[in-house]
Amino acid sequence: MVELQSIGQSSTVRNYVDGDWRDASGTDELTSVNPATGEELATVPFSSADDVDEIVQIGTEAFEEWSARPVEERIQPLFELKQLLEEHQDELAELLVKDHGKTFAEASGELRRGIENVEVACGIPSMMQSGSLLNAAPDIDESAVRKPLGVFTAITPFNFPGMIPLWFLPYAVATGNSFILKPSEQNPLVAQRLFELVDEAGFPDGVLQLVNGGPDTVNALLDHEGVEGASFVGSTPIAKLVYERAAKNGKRAQAQGGAKNHIIVTETADLEFAAEKTVSSAFACGGERCLANDIALIEESVYEEFTDLVVEEAASQVVGYGLDDGTDIGALISPEHEQTVRNYIQTGIEEGAELLLDGRDVNVEGYEDGNFLAPTVFGDVTEDMVISQEEIFGPVLGLAAVSDVDEAIERMNGSQFGNAASLFTGSGADARKFRHEGDIGNLGVNVGTSAPMAFFHFGGWKDSFFGDLHAQGEDMIHFYTDKAVYIERWPDA
Ligand code: NAD
Repeated sequence: MVELQSIGQSSTVRNYVDGDWRDASGTDELTSVNPATGEELATVPFSSADDVDEIVQIGTEAFEEWSARPVEERIQPLFELKQLLEEHQDELAELLVKDHGKTFAEASGELRRGIENVEVACGIPSMMQSGSLLNAAPDIDESAVRKPLGVFTAITPFNFPGMIPLWFLPYAVATGNSFILKPSEQNPLVAQRLFELVDEAGFPDGVLQLVNGGPDTVNALLDHEGVEGASFVGSTPIAKLVYERAAKNGKRAQAQGGAKNHIIVTETADLEFAAEKTVSSAFACGGERCLANDIALIEESVYEEFTDLVVEEAASQVVGYGLDDGTDIGALISPEHEQTVRNYIQTGIEEGAELLLDGRDVNVEGYEDGNFLAPTVFGDVTEDMVISQEEIFGPVLGLAAVSDVDEAIERMNGSQFGNAASLFTGSGADARKFRHEGDIGNLGVNVGTSAPMAFFHFGGWKDSFFGDLHAQGEDMIHFYTDKAVYIERWPDA
């Protein structure tokens, strides 16, 4: 069991409400387990609709005073939070490894990316400004302003418990709203610790709150009339449900879903570099990344050479406990999820893909209770195969030969998802074609994983995203505010 200040030896996760720690009153609960060791870490009681109602009402009251504060005052606790997150980054990363299963380096990198969003939100005095024009009409000046709206919520997934809450939280409060986080019930400990730091950072009570729970808790948030808008990140079926429910209840919504991402490798690419980046993209975080490129489409003239390089690189990855030195790939989130990934591998075999590297027999000494799978690589993966179409969310990479970039782009665009893609090439013309024709939200050229920095929006397309304004950066300012125009005339008389 872990012990944090807010949960003590009982190791029961708590809500952060009105500047204080409170127990959830729902009847369901879950146990959070270290995916590598099988150790029970904490009990996660789910919050009821009454808990949600209380939290939203407190958020609504806090909004009145917070939204009227000068913007320069609103960002001071964010500067403080950035400092606290940096001071506690190693400790947070260790907790993240225990609760999620990824490696310490991956956890640290994730936290760094989260902190970058706090930094961007500290620029809100400039970012929130809108235009104004003197003499817009005879004797009339006009100016546009952005106003905060009230209480917002974000519902986040298990795979980036340190970063994804920070895609939303800093922007929501910097723009003058109050905010409620509902983290994944599978691994809520980093959020628990994050809110201990929020408590230290000096936000007024009720401006930032944490509610733990599962689907019923989410539905209570989406149905509450005091919630102005909801951000969601998770699987596509739930993203769709959340988007529809929020919209039906008249709320703003942005819902990021699952993915199936492609890498295209042309014969002009630096093949060794491309193979190394492909392996890191497909297998880092155990493949539990919405940006993992797990289908590689390779020009046929270099298919064999590239395949050999990828298999060799993938086979060299060390699977183990994320806190042990030398580990490249950690554990999967749960035994159930490990089984889902194993089922996909079996499906790939039955569909006739060529099993080039089989990661199912991995044995991590000393961690017999862990949810481990080693890199698995399939060759000759055709477009109609399930493993080519569905999100596997595990360490499984599919390879296929294509005649040229046109065929690769056509196949990539045929996917129901549109989260990310990468092209490895030495040709500017191929890169331009890829940028122009790719129906994908995050497009990388000679980049393994197309993850935008915090000052750019993080955008998926098609079934990877429902809504129009994306997470991170300027889009968040638009999501968290509404615009008004002042039209003024002051006649001399
Ligand atoms: P998930 O959809 O199971 O859960 C996400 C959140 O939804 C959790 O907080 C959970 O409590 C809540 N939830 C689950 N079922 C619900 C229901 N029936 N009604 C209401 N709420 C419900 O996703 P996950 O397994 O935690 O995360 C993995 C998924 O997230 C993958 O599909 C991955 O691609 C996706 N993801 C997408 C992005 C992106 O930016 N597009 C980023 C990270 C993860």
